[in-house]
Amino acid sequence: MEQKRKNIIIAIDGYSSTGKSTLAKNLARELGFVYVDTGSMYRAVALYAMQNGLIKDGELDVEALIEALHQIQLDFVHNPDKGFSEIYLNGEKVEGLIRSLEVSNQVSQVARIPQVRKKLVLLQKNMSGDRGIVMDGRDIGTVVFPEAELKIFLTASPETRAKRRYKEMSDTGRNISYESVLENVSQRDLMDTTRKDSPLVKAEDAVEIDNSHMNVQQTFDTALELVGKVLNS
Ligand code: C5P
Repeated sequence: MEQKRKNIIIAIDGYSSTGKSTLAKNLARELGFVYVDTGSMYRAVALYAMQNGLIKDGELDVEALIEALHQIQLDFVHNPDKGFSEIYLNGEKVEGLIRSLEVSNQVSQVARIPQVRKKLVLLQKNMSGDRGIVMDGRDIGTVVFPEAELKIFLTASPETRAKRRYKEMSDTGRNISYESVLENVSQRDLMDTTRKDSPLVKAEDAVEIDNSHMNVQQTFDTALELVGKVLNS
């Protein structure tokens, strides 16, 4: 079938560990689109706060972080070997560091600060260029790109998601318990859905995909069918 439209915005939102990034990456590769993982940006800001003593005993110094925001430079640099971009915090690649359970445990309290969101949302809005874009996060379809041509909202049961994240972390050599991962996933869901500024919520015009009983390929196929409909509409 002939495709009429090319440079669309695909917004993928949903709970933690639903496979948003995997889906977004696969779609971007298939379509030749730019891929942006906005979670990595919030994680990098959390890492900055941790590295600079702004979080003590789990308590974030909100005022100090707001004051330091102008010193935080985030860049995405394309890694040709991996086929996607990796995040740099003030010139240092932090792609590995930001995935630790320690950062996962702090990131949602950083992401609720309106000044942090304002800075990152502005950067994200400026990332749509000539090429199509696939962006994943929590507020992409509602706040960053409410005009996105396709909005996907991914869900799966908390246990399914914790199992996936646990396997992912164990596979990369991280020594953690399943219970601590489940606790983190549930805590982040709670904080992300109840925060005042841009809470995680399904956009009215988003298509929900519950992938509790789907594998990566099935999730991809379902999403690609939706993309095909939009491209040919
Ligand atoms: O997607 P990921 O799980 O890496 O995101 C980490 C955290 O960053 C989320 O739990 C959420 O608190 C925050 N986040 C956000 N808005 C986004 C992306 C992520 O608040 N667009």
